[in-house]
Amino acid sequence: MRRGALIVVAVATALGLLGVERPKNLGDVVDVRYWSYPDYTRVVVEFSKTVKSAVKHLPADAGANRPERLYLDVDGIWVGRRYERGISVGDGLLRGVRLGQNTLSRTRVVIDVDHFERYRLLVLTHPDRLVVDVYGHRSGGETLEWPQRGRAGGRLPSDLRRVRTVIIDPGHGGRDPGATGVGGLREKDVALRLARALGKKLEAEGFRVVYTRDDDRTIGLEERTAIAEASRGDLFVSLHANAASRRSVRGIETFYLDQEHERHSLGVAARENGIDRDQVNDLQKTLTMLRVSETSVQSRRLANFVHHEMVDGVGRRYREIRDLGVKKGPFYVLFLSNMPAILIEAGFLTNREEARRLRRGDYLNRIATQITAGLVRYRDEPPAVAMRGGG
Ligand SMILES: [Zn+2]
Repeated sequence: MRRGALIVVAVATALGLLGVERPKNLGDVVDVRYWSYPDYTRVVVEFSKTVKSAVKHLPADAGANRPERLYLDVDGIWVGRRYERGISVGDGLLRGVRLGQNTLSRTRVVIDVDHFERYRLLVLTHPDRLVVDVYGHRSGGETLEWPQRGRAGGRLPSDLRRVRTVIIDPGHGGRDPGATGVGGLREKDVALRLARALGKKLEAEGFRVVYTRDDDRTIGLEERTAIAEASRGDLFVSLHANAASRRSVRGIETFYLDQEHERHSLGVAARENGIDRDQVNDLQKTLTMLRVSETSVQSRRLANFVHHEMVDGVGRRYREIRDLGVKKGPFYVLFLSNMPAILIEAGFLTNREEARRLRRGDYLNRIATQITAGLVRYRDEPPAVAMRGGG
């Protein structure tokens, strides 16, 4: 991915802000980032407080030599002259991003576009940020370098190429340990060990594997999804371990993204998204604005295959593997544009017996074997096609 390099763009600030005093109680712009994906460009503006906004559109103005623009007004935010030079993107879709003080208490974010087909806005918290994805076909012959952190597997016969690249996403990492369980066992470590075991088995089955992280590092949502989409993944598998206040709770559960969620998954969604339980509803509102229905059918199919292989296969070797089921849930990490995605909770760190197992290579290997079996089924079994009659 390419982070923005600053170029000198003279931006006239609306207020001539030199010497204007900043009003009290305003939030700040913390950071502006972007990622160029094959199908779209993502712009992320992070703030020091929660914001609301909407995307508006301005057509190109040839007379004033201005390109087409998308802009967002963000009330209660001070940016001053920090970003008046703008951030150059130049990826054939976006020209750049500028921020300026529109009024004393309002920041305007302007995205200069070459052209676009559609956009979407995500309002995320923890940290507070606006995410604008601008979709369209890129103009120009510039070749972008996508991040390629995975190892390339061998070429597959063309009939298997439909599902080739699996993105393995070990949850948490670095400063975010995830849940902590019996004996101080940390979710981030379990997730990484499981990811490595899974990657080896998938490669042996002919999949190409890309990891969102392959060491103990802090990695944000945008980076996880950037790696997934820029690596042209076909499937996304996020690996986690569960926690519960009651020590007796145990079992395996698998989630996929759907516009609905189940009450039961609220707690898991809150924890995995790093937000409060009551904020899950805000997340849900964002989710309903997105078009997830096309991929949610495949995600559910993937979740069912993987989950049942896990419960059956692991249950044959280990006693008392409880089947907590396949569930719908809102997870930031599953907000991918066009890739079936699931999130696996491989056991409870807070249950003594399961924590003991999750520490051990043999159990993680067995889980990895069964996840692989589910992915192989998904790849090799043709999906049921609804035939239209009368043809
Ligand atoms: Zn987790």
